[in-house]
Amino acid sequence: MSVAPQSTQVQDAIDVRNPGNGTLVGSVPVLSPEAVLDVVTGLRAEQVAWEALGPRQRARWLRIYRDWLLDNEAALVATVQAETGKPLAEAELEVMLICDVINYYSDRATKFLSTERIRPHGILTAVKVLRKVYRPQPVVGVITPWNFPMMIPGVDSVTALLAGAAVLIKPSEVTPLSAVALVRGWREIGAPDVFACVTGFGPTGAAVVDTVDMVQFTGSTATGRSIAVRAAQRLIPCCVELGGKDPALVLADANLERAANGIAWGGLLNAGQACVSVERVYVEAGVHDEFVALLTEKVRALRQGGDEQPFTADVGALANDGQLQIVKRQVADALERGATVAVGGSATGVGTYFEPTVITGVDHSMECVRDESFGPIIPVIKVADVDEAIRLANDSEYGLSATVWTGSRRRGLDVARKLEVGAVNVNDAVANLFCFGLPHGGWKTSGLGSRLGGAHGLRKYCRQQAITVPRVPTLTSELLWYPYSRKRATTVARVLRLLVARNPRRRTTNNFKTEGDLK
Ligand code: NAD
Repeated sequence: MSVAPQSTQVQDAIDVRNPGNGTLVGSVPVLSPEAVLDVVTGLRAEQVAWEALGPRQRARWLRIYRDWLLDNEAALVATVQAETGKPLAEAELEVMLICDVINYYSDRATKFLSTERIRPHGILTAVKVLRKVYRPQPVVGVITPWNFPMMIPGVDSVTALLAGAAVLIKPSEVTPLSAVALVRGWREIGAPDVFACVTGFGPTGAAVVDTVDMVQFTGSTATGRSIAVRAAQRLIPCCVELGGKDPALVLADANLERAANGIAWGGLLNAGQACVSVERVYVEAGVHDEFVALLTEKVRALRQGGDEQPFTADVGALANDGQLQIVKRQVADALERGATVAVGGSATGVGTYFEPTVITGVDHSMECVRDESFGPIIPVIKVADVDEAIRLANDSEYGLSATVWTGSRRRGLDVARKLEVGAVNVNDAVANLFCFGLPHGGWKTSGLGSRLGGAHGLRKYCRQQAITVPRVPTLTSELLWYPYSRKRATTVARVLRLLVARNPRRRTTNNFKTEGDLK
C-alpha cells in the first residue's frame, strides 16, 4: 500500500499555494477512484492485525507517534503556515491539540473499549452472561476541510486508530500538505500500515465514501448533506461536522471588557475561518454602545499579516480567493441595506487578506447574519432584552455552538439551556473544544453525530456486538424452541404475563379462555 498511486492512476496534480503571498509551496496528485480502492483494499487487509493488537498496544504506537509530532513540531507548523497563511501562534495550536488528544485517549483507551458485562434485566435472561463488545469499523474515511488542515485530520485519525480502525484521510484540495505530513510521520515511526492519505478534489472524496466502512466528515453543510445521502445508500455510518453561524449573547450584567476581548478572539481566530467562530453578536440595548466601542477598540488594535517574523501578526489570510469573495459580498450587502462599518470593512489588496471588521446596525435580512461568513467580520445587533437575544440567536438554520456573556453563572446556565445549539460557552469562546470529555457536534444543519466526548470519541468508530453465553449447563432443548405445543405455549404465556404485568389482576388473568382463542 502506498500514498502515491501508480502513475497511470494519476489524473492530474494540485499545486498548493500560500494564500497570503501566492508562493507555490507544494504539489500533490489527484487520485482516481481506482487508486482510492487500491489503498482501501490494502488498509482493510492490514486492519485485522491492528485490531488484534488491542487498545494497550495501539496506545503504545500512538504515544510513539505523539513523540514524533513533538520532535517534528517546527516542520509541521511551517507546513500548516505555508498552506494556510495563518500566524505561528495559531498553527502551533494545531499540533499541540493532536498530542493532547492522543494523551487523553491513550490513557483511557483500554477502559473505553473494554468489553462490558451487562446485567440481565429479568429472571428469564438471568441464565445468560451478557457482554457488549466494541469492535472497530475496519476502514474509516476521514474527509476534512482547509481551515485546520492538521488538527482536524489529526484528531479524527488518532481517535479512529486507537479504536482499532484503519484510517484513510482525504484532505481538502486547498491544504493537503499537512495531512500528507501526518501520514509520513506514521510511516517514519514504523507503525503498522493502517494509516494512509489520498489527495484530490470532490470526486476523490466521493470515492472514499464509496469504499470505506464509515465516514468522518468535516466541511460545509452542502457537501456534508451529499455525503450523508451517499453513505445512506451504502448503509454505512457517517458523522458529519458542518458549518455554523454561532451567536454571542452579551447581557447587560456582563464584564464588557472580557466580553469584547473574548468576542474579538472568538470571531477573528483563524481569520474567522473556524466552524465555531462568533459570527453574530446580540447585545442588550443598555450596554450596546459601550460594548461596540470596546470591541471596535480591540479589533482596531489587531495586527494583520503573514507573521514572517513570528508573533508580529494576530490575524492571517483567508484560505483562498473564493472565501475572500464571500466576505466582500456579505459586507457590501450589509452596507447596501443600511449597516455601518465600525472598523475594517475592506480587502487589503494584498493576497487574500481582509481587514478585521466590526459591523453595526445589522439585522436578519442581511447575508452576514443569515449565511456562514467564515471570515474576519463580526456583525453586532442591538436587542431589547435577553428574550429577544435568545429568539434571534435561535433564528438560524445552524446550531453549532454559542457564547453567553453575563455576570451571573446562574443566568448563563439558564440562557444556555434555551439555545438550540450543540455547545455553549459561558464567558468564554471555543473553550468546549479543549474539553475532550465533552462532545463536539452541531444541531440542526450544523451536523449529525459528534466527535470526542469521552468514551464516545472512540466508541463511535466501533460496532457494538452483543454476545450471550449460558451461565449454567445447557439442556438439550429450550422452552421456546420447536415443537410448539399448547402445554408449553400456555406455560410460557403464563410465566411471561406474571413477569410483565404490574398489578395482581393482570398477572393472573387468562385471556385465552377457549380452545379457539389459543389457536
Ligand atoms: P467543503 O465541504 O467544500 O470540503 C470539505 C472536504 O470535502 C474537502 O476535502 C473536499 O475535497 C471534500 N469533498 C467535496 N465534495 C465532495 C464529495 N462530493 N464527496 C466527498 N468529499 C467531497 O468544505 P471546506 O470549504 O473545505 O471547509 C469549510 C467548511 O467546513 C465550513 O462550512 C466550516 O464551517 C466547516 N467546518 C466545520 C467544522 C465542524 O467541526 N463542525 C470544523 C471545521 C470546518
